[in-house]
Amino acid sequence: MLIQEQVELLAFNTFRVSAIAPRLVTLQSNNDLLEWRAQAKQPDCVVLGGGSNVVLASNLETPVLLNRIMGYHVQPLNHREALVSAGAGEPWHPFVMRTLTSGWFGLENLSLIPGTVGASPVQNIGAYGVELCQRFYSLQAFDLHTGEMRNFSREECEFRYRDSIFKRADHQQWIITKVTFKLYRDGPLSLDYGDIKAELSSRKIITPTALDVSLAVQEIRRQKLPDPAVAPNAGSFFKNPVLSAKQFHSFQEAHPNAPHYPQEDGSVKLAAGWLIDRLGWKGRHIGPVEVHPKQALVLVNRGGNGRDILNAASQIVASVRVHFGIELEMEPRILGRA
Ligand SMILES: Cc1cc2nc3c(=O)[nH]c(=O)nc-3n(C[C@H](O)[C@H](O)[C@H](O)COP(=O)(O)OP(=O)(O)OC[C@H]3O[C@@H](n4cnc5c(N)ncnc54)[C@H](O)[C@@H]3O)c2cc1C
Repeated sequence: MLIQEQVELLAFNTFRVSAIAPRLVTLQSNNDLLEWRAQAKQPDCVVLGGGSNVVLASNLETPVLLNRIMGYHVQPLNHREALVSAGAGEPWHPFVMRTLTSGWFGLENLSLIPGTVGASPVQNIGAYGVELCQRFYSLQAFDLHTGEMRNFSREECEFRYRDSIFKRADHQQWIITKVTFKLYRDGPLSLDYGDIKAELSSRKIITPTALDVSLAVQEIRRQKLPDPAVAPNAGSFFKNPVLSAKQFHSFQEAHPNAPHYPQEDGSVKLAAGWLIDRLGWKGRHIGPVEVHPKQALVLVNRGGNGRDILNAASQIVASVRVHFGIELEMEPRILGRA
């Protein structure tokens, strides 16, 4: 365990916001967690993985725990299924590639998402038609309040669209230490979302493997999404709003061309990017924050602080509320005083 005092967090968040943590505790094992809890005066803290889904709104008042607990383990269940586990601090994309190159399929559509394995269940990451909860088996988490380790099943995580119990204010005592996925030797691939089929056909691939799908997804993402190293961002800043069937009916009367995605429970998901784009935000600057010229859902920080980002977000939210009567919800978590 490494403990540093008064640490600048600019390099620890993909928005590259400057903020000071009173302490930065780098955890490399479950024992480090026990040791830190024993010596900490109060258990309140903030956990960070790759910092790709947070807005640092101010300097922090509580210590930051940097999760770097590593590990990789495969437990075959039979000739075609296995439980594959990884330490929470493992970087997500290299973990996905390790499963694929070892012949375990299932995570290919989630390739190239930034961040760590431990954060992946927090907002039930999703991309290209697949959500983490579809491949998730269980996770292990440490309770900072009691000092106990506990396993969570899929049902206990209460996964929803970009949500789980770990994103809620009353569950911030849990530090995820290990995540287990159920993966397969073969099975149907998810090819119907976005440009996956077009990308595969441009590569002249007729019968794709899961690895082919991963490479196609990576190429599409590289073309579409700004690289945080060049344009500091946190991916999609707003969730796609979900309307009840009744709400959608009146919305559609006014906006018949709006893209929409019917859900199994009868609700309808709208594209937040379309709403923002329709209001002319794409490419505009709100102080030091830019709405990405190609991706209306992505806010890029051009040298501002967390409050500049939140101010830009609230202007966009207000305009969508006024024009469409829809309340956009932020995807990243706000840390510090907003
Ligand atoms: C360019 C770009 C593209 C993206 N694309 C996608 C996408 O396609 N789909 C998608 O779903 N997301 C996407 N994201 C968002 C982000 O990458 C994911 O949400 C990712 O899982 C966050 O991982 P992280 O380690 O960086 O989490 P952090 O930002 O460090 O933390 C996020 C939240 O999880 C909590 N947390 C982190 N680790 C733990 C832990 N071990 N235990 C308990 N809580 C923890 C933190 O306290 C915080 O509340 C994108 C982001 C960027 C910058």
